Amino acid sequence: MDFGLSGKSAIVCASSKGLGKACALHLAREGVDLVINARTKSTLDATADEIRAETGWRVTAIACDVTTPEGRAEILAACPSPDILVNNAGGPPPGDFHDWQRDDWIAALDANMLTPIELIKATVDGMMDRGFGRIINITSSAVKAPISILGLSNGARTGLTGFVAGISRETIAKNVTINNLLPGPFDTDRLNSNIAAVAAKKGISNEEEAIARAASLPSGRFGHPDEFGAACAFLCSQQAVGKADAATFRLQSGG
Ligand code: NAP
Repeated sequence: MDFGLSGKSAIVCASSKGLGKACALHLAREGVDLVINARTKSTLDATADEIRAETGWRVTAIACDVTTPEGRAEILAACPSPDILVNNAGGPPPGDFHDWQRDDWIAALDANMLTPIELIKATVDGMMDRGFGRIINITSSAVKAPISILGLSNGARTGLTGFVAGISRETIAKNVTINNLLPGPFDTDRLNSNIAAVAAKKGISNEEEAIARAASLPSGRFGHPDEFGAACAFLCSQQAVGKADAATFRLQSGG
């Protein structure tokens, strides 16, 4: 199927690895020019080279922290009028809510709620004027099934969900959709570090914990980032015109 994206431009935040990288790669395969981003320049440049080598499309790598105003300004300077915006950043740390201070909450809100809102604010009017726009927010299945140790993530990402569900009711009339992708467990560095932390706490090996966790999922396995990237590319396609009352699409391979 031709997704009708050839010649479009996209900003994909936090995309040198994992789910963001998979989204970037699948968009490039559809002929989209990319601005990709992460903090670690060496990994980001390697990812840009990999995507260019496979697809031949233009990839601009902006090494910065997307959760800062300066970082967002750098990204927007490289692509002031994107047709597609994929919002992503690292997730907040797990923990016990008794230990979290105001600064911990502000950091989580900055990274996982206010950063996407700022980038949407900077780009959505142009998308509406041009009559095409696709905004994807990578959030978490914890929005629908909150996990107690991930309270910072549950709170910040649920706030983002409420905000975008509201504005998507205005943007859809101009062919600008806003969808949230809510990953369950996907096989990335982040998942592997979470598994290592739990395994250490239980006193078992990482492999034992990974096998037990995967077995607890309806599919019996973790999702692959490639599956996530494919879903992202479809939601950015000309065919994926959303309904104003359905801003949230759930992708959770595991359960
Ligand atoms: P990952 O494999 O660890 O990749 C994270 C990517 O984001 C890297 O490219 C990292 O590069 C970049 N990044 C992190 N913080 C950044 C920042 N402040 N500014 C710019 N780039 C930044 O993680 P992932 O599994 O793909 O997770 C992506 C998102 O999905 C996270 O918010 C995570 O919490 C959420 N999620 C993941 C899962 C899962 O199972 N994988 C499940 C639920 C939710 P640098 O470190 O070099 O910046």
